[in-house]
Amino acid sequence: MPLRTSDIKSSDYVGKEVTIRGWVHRLRKQKENTFVLVRDDRGGVIQCIFPAEKVSNLTVESSVEVVGIVSQDSRAPEGGFEIKGKNLKVFNIAGIDYPIGEYQSDQLLLDKRHLALRTRRMIAIAKIRHSVLKFGRQWFIDNGWMEVTAPTIVKGAVEGGSTLFKLRYFDEDAYLSQSAQLYLEAMIFSLGPVWSLTPSFRAEKSRTVRHLAEFSHLEAEAPWVDLEDILRVQEELVSYIIQNTIAERKEELAFLKRDTSELKNVQVPFERLRYEKAIEILQSRGFGVEKEDGTKRSIVWGDDLNIDSERELTKNASKPIFVIGYPLEVKPFYVKEDPSRKGLGLAADMLAPQGFGEITSGGLREDDINSITSRIRKEGLDPAAYDWYLDLRKYGSVPHGGFGLGIERLMRWITNVEDIKDTVLFPRTMSRVSP
Ligand code: ATP
Ligand code: MG
Repeated sequence: MPLRTSDIKSSDYVGKEVTIRGWVHRLRKQKENTFVLVRDDRGGVIQCIFPAEKVSNLTVESSVEVVGIVSQDSRAPEGGFEIKGKNLKVFNIAGIDYPIGEYQSDQLLLDKRHLALRTRRMIAIAKIRHSVLKFGRQWFIDNGWMEVTAPTIVKGAVEGGSTLFKLRYFDEDAYLSQSAQLYLEAMIFSLGPVWSLTPSFRAEKSRTVRHLAEFSHLEAEAPWVDLEDILRVQEELVSYIIQNTIAERKEELAFLKRDTSELKNVQVPFERLRYEKAIEILQSRGFGVEKEDGTKRSIVWGDDLNIDSERELTKNASKPIFVIGYPLEVKPFYVKEDPSRKGLGLAADMLAPQGFGEITSGGLREDDINSITSRIRKEGLDPAAYDWYLDLRKYGSVPHGGFGLGIERLMRWITNVEDIKDTVLFPRTMSRVSP
């Protein structure tokens, strides 16, 4: 059985014959010997040494099987282990024009993402992503939430019409889902606390480093909760994912030069900051917002928080901050009004520290049939399009709430990579649907 390089490095194979399979990551030809850095199918690499004439036709990214004797040499890269090659079997000689070398533009790396997945950087990011998804799932399993799946082809908007992707669905129009929330709300009546991880689609027309057209949405919904319950779930979930991921992915985060000491601080509880207090803080710092004509005015009560204000609020924080109680006008129709603070929603966003911005949105949902119908109308939407959703308020409505977390937003914070496109293997944006 072929081994992986991690097996060789962790057990005592020195002096023994081993077989590994992989791809030629790098080649260094000297007069007598050729140093072949082989990358296995989990991204681990080990140096293999062959007499130059034996591997003269080898190219970068050729797929190979190496049989050889393990030795330890402090000069060898990657932990001092290397393999003195005895036999080399070639599965495929890669074309000499492999486009990805040591230095290339971000554009090329995106255009050739199917090949760039073989770079150490993308391998590290993919492994961190795997851990984030695994620990997210684990938290819900350990806490007794049921995993469900909602459809991604839908009839109605959840987050406003401007970012809907329309599609032809047989003989009618339909949309790609922006959120599973409305479906999760239907499920709590018979399944209790539920969660799902599905793609959400948003036709985001502005190019930012925080928006994708397709993202992985981790969403949860539960009956009989109050806002504080929903905040607690989010802070526990996020700190659990982070603490476990930084423990499991030390090597990969170090490769990305991510200083994890600050992530170690991400323990419950997170600060709760009321929306009006957030506005006061921003005003006291002379914070302005851009008007449509490009000029600036001072931020006022009623303004939504944009990335600049989110950055300002969290620039010195070492943990996320919940901003609570946004005005209803800046939140979708389903947000429940705070009975003790008219005009404000029982809704909260979690802002990651140091300006990474919003990573979750959640709160309580309006559960009264009349209030929600009038809110749908107020937003200029047609209640008829939400008939099944309104049934949930008609038959046994209960106080309930939930939230949605953007996996790539969380990834961006954990990895500290600049562009959200690099937190997903095949990004989709306004200007990219390929590869
Ligand atoms: P923002 O205001 O930051 O654009 P939003 O308020 O429109 O986000 P929500 O509808 O609240 O987003 O979605 C829930 C979560 O999904 C967000 O907190 C974020 O983590 C994630 N998310 C939303 N839109 C995107 C996107 N275009 N790309 C990646 N993640 C997203
Ligand atoms: Mg939001």
